[in-house]
Amino acid sequence: MAEIRKCSFCGGDIEPGTGKMYVKKDGTVYNFDTSKCQKNMIELKRVARTTEWTEKAKTEKRARLKAAEKASDKPADAKEEKKSAKTAVKPKAKAAAEKAAEKPAEKAAEKPAAKPEAKAEKPAEKAAEKKE
Ligand SMILES: [Zn+2]
Repeated sequence: MAEIRKCSFCGGDIEPGTGKMYVKKDGTVYNFDTSKCQKNMIELKRVARTTEWTEKAKTEKRARLKAAEKASDKPADAKEEKKSAKTAVKPKAKAAAEKAAEKPAEKAAEKPAAKPEAKAEKPAEKAAEKKE
C-alpha cells in the first residue's frame, strides 16, 4: 500500500507515484506535489505561513480571526481597567488625577459656604419687613 504524503509547502496530499522528494545537504527532506510549491520554497525562499494559498497560512488566518473575535467579545471594562492600571503607574498621571480630585472638593466646599449666607440674608430681610 503506497503511502500518501503531504506537500511540505502547501500541505496538500501527494498522489502516490507523483511529486518530488527534495533532500537538502543537511539531510532535511521535503516532499512537493507540484513544481509550483518547490519553486516557492526553494527558489523564491517563501515561507508557507506567510504565503496566502498554503494550508498553513489558512490555519494561521483562522486562528487570528478567532482570537480577534474573542478579544471583541470581552467587555470594555477589562480594557478600561488595563488603561487605569497603566495611568496609575505613571507619577505625572497620579499628580494630575490628584489635582482633578481636589478641584471638585474645593467647589463643593465653596457652595455650602455660599448657601448659608443667602439663607442668613433672607431672615434678616423678613425681620426688617416685620419691623416696618
Ligand atoms: Zn504543494
